[in-house]
Amino acid sequence: MPDTMAGPAQPNEPTASPLRDPNARRAAAIPAGATGVIIIDLRQIAANWRALARRVAPAECGAVVKADAYGLGAERVIPALLAAGCRTFFVATIEEASTARRLASGASVYVLDGILPGAARDLASLGARPVIATLEEAVAWTALVKNGARAAPVAVHIDTGLNRLGMSAAEVAQLARADIAQRLDIALVMSHLACADEAKNPMNREQLETFNRLRASLPAARASLAASDGLMLGKEFHFDLVRPGYALYGGQASPQRVTPVAPVVRVSARILQVQNIPAGSRVGYSATYRADGPRRLATVAAGYADGVFRHASATSAEPGGAVAIRGKLAPIVGRVSMDLITVDVTDIGDPPPARGDLVDLIAPELPLEAVGASAKTIGYEVLTRLGARFHRLYLDGGD
Ligand SMILES: *Cc1c(COP(=O)(O)O)cnc(C)c1O
Repeated sequence: MPDTMAGPAQPNEPTASPLRDPNARRAAAIPAGATGVIIIDLRQIAANWRALARRVAPAECGAVVKADAYGLGAERVIPALLAAGCRTFFVATIEEASTARRLASGASVYVLDGILPGAARDLASLGARPVIATLEEAVAWTALVKNGARAAPVAVHIDTGLNRLGMSAAEVAQLARADIAQRLDIALVMSHLACADEAKNPMNREQLETFNRLRASLPAARASLAASDGLMLGKEFHFDLVRPGYALYGGQASPQRVTPVAPVVRVSARILQVQNIPAGSRVGYSATYRADGPRRLATVAAGYADGVFRHASATSAEPGGAVAIRGKLAPIVGRVSMDLITVDVTDIGDPPPARGDLVDLIAPELPLEAVGASAKTIGYEVLTRLGARFHRLYLDGGD
């Protein structure tokens, strides 16, 4: 069971985040036998949501909590967002919708994967709102109600160029003409941007225009186009509702625009062994790293089964990822294995890293984006792959 570490009530300023102020009390809350810990600052997630809500007002700010709130724990994240004022949640699956409805029964819960064949009744009984991407789904949903009555609210997903999920222009036209359109309660019309992390990419405006053109043929409904990066593109991308996920969790995906959010996680793992190796020693499976001088190594209890990407491995020729020790980077050397990594701590000053110490895999000084880049991936994947072996500690300010 996750623990809660209640701290003194403090203003939600990013600089006041306990993630930046590790203290002995918190360390004492981590079980001695835990090989790693994820500290999740629920107050900062709430503060991030409020900062985004202020940025997009008068548009509404929803929250994307799919994939267990990007791996951080929907059970804790959804109530924190609800308390902050969030009233619209997006999930991917029916199971996630069930969790969200249980935790936030008064809120609207949209299911991005829509209605799988045969699943309409289950979705309806949850009171969740499917985001429908095909005419078949519209038929299945309206078939639940008899005598020509109106079905429960849905969102319609229009594909404006991503070619991933959503109705094409032809399908939107077909839906607009179909009899069942009158029986659908379309609460939201939405689309998703392909290149929102590139503010200057002309595709953003093309998709905006396509969205406006296609939604005009459907019954009037609230509209939503922007996720975390899209909402930074300006007012005209906000429509009635924005759908950030990654930014709520402290992510800064776009290199060009700084989203007004701060980090919410610190992920740490224990040092199991420290050793000095002489010049010429090889490290790890396949001996891909060879020390060019005497080095001091620490073996850390986290590997690819915990979400440390194997692509973060380092050879003598090519650097890989790193961990942070008291804010200073220590590079990974050799292969990442299932449960372990080896890091070079030669240049870490006093006190020298020791057995049992926690080193940071993700921290305000080692952000998600940097961790992703060093493993040839993105921060989103880093976050959503954090493994089940970490102890989870939630900071909630005691409220
Ligand atoms: C995942 C997702 C989002 C959230 O995206 P972020 O980049 O994490 O803000 C929004 N809309 C749709 C359709 C998504 O699939």
